[in-house]
Amino acid sequence: MRKLHEWFQQNQREFPWRKTPTPYKVWISEVMLQQTRATVVIPYFERWLTLFPNVRTLAEAPLEKVIKAWEGLGYYSRARNLHKGAQQIVEYFGGEIPSNRKDLASICGLGPYTVGAILSFGFRQKAAAVDGNVTRVVARYFSIEENVDQQSVKRKIADAAESLLDATEPWITAEALIELGATVCTRKPRCEACPLQKNCLGQHKAEFLPITTGEKQVTQLKRAVALIESGGKILVKKGERGKVMADLYEFPYFEMGEGHWTQKAIVQAIQRTLGLPVEIVQKLPPITHTFTRFKAHLFPICYTTETPNPIAGYEWISRELLSELPFSAGHRRILSL
Ligand code: SF4
Repeated sequence: MRKLHEWFQQNQREFPWRKTPTPYKVWISEVMLQQTRATVVIPYFERWLTLFPNVRTLAEAPLEKVIKAWEGLGYYSRARNLHKGAQQIVEYFGGEIPSNRKDLASICGLGPYTVGAILSFGFRQKAAAVDGNVTRVVARYFSIEENVDQQSVKRKIADAAESLLDATEPWITAEALIELGATVCTRKPRCEACPLQKNCLGQHKAEFLPITTGEKQVTQLKRAVALIESGGKILVKKGERGKVMADLYEFPYFEMGEGHWTQKAIVQAIQRTLGLPVEIVQKLPPITHTFTRFKAHLFPICYTTETPNPIAGYEWISRELLSELPFSAGHRRILSL
């Protein structure tokens, strides 16, 4: 693996979480990097460390502040789990992130990959961190022609990744494998630039590996979004706990199903569900927004009403305060319109 280490020292990308890794920094960065590109994560990571420099400050912060710091990264359960995980670390481990697999796995939101990453990059132990990138490299390097979505094959990949780790600097191999998968052994691999090429068994069939179950189905949603204003205040709703948009604010919206509602139908729906007589002010440009397994097509329309009645589950918020609330990404974009 010496070649891989040399390649990594020369080619690794510079990221703030790689400079002086600590278990806390590794934990935060790895959770942020799930489902999100590294370049997007950088400013979030830096701001996070200013707001919550350690486990205790994170554990003691109000959840709303944590969600606000996460705003725009999506998959908000990750932020809620970080917050809860920090509280568990304070309660059960005296505020110190544990350095063994069993205790780490007991912390909210920590799956096998993040546990491996913390042990490896944070504590410099001999542990592989197997994400999608490493799975791809290992499946190709060992020519594993089995479905990597199956539990038994996942274990096989993890064992194979572990077998590649260097005896003296295993954390470098672990991170180098991730980097290799992200930059060289990609979907269309550049085998000629790969430090593992000499012994790679799968390079001639690389584009067929790894074998997976296939793409997950994306559900299309069409929503009419109502921005209802009255006396300088706008009607918003906070997502309920346990739902996809929990703790995030959104404007009232209506699922339109397959078709497209007329203006009259939307006004009637507002009257029926919110009890508000409204007048249309203007239509805003539609927005397409993807989250988890959904693709939402949002059709925002501005309305006014002269009867800003209190509505259960909703709040009337002044325009100035709106920008301080954590909004779901799609509705944040509407707000910026
Ligand atoms: S030689 Fe090609 S297929 Fe094999 S690990 Fe390197 S980039 Fe991937």
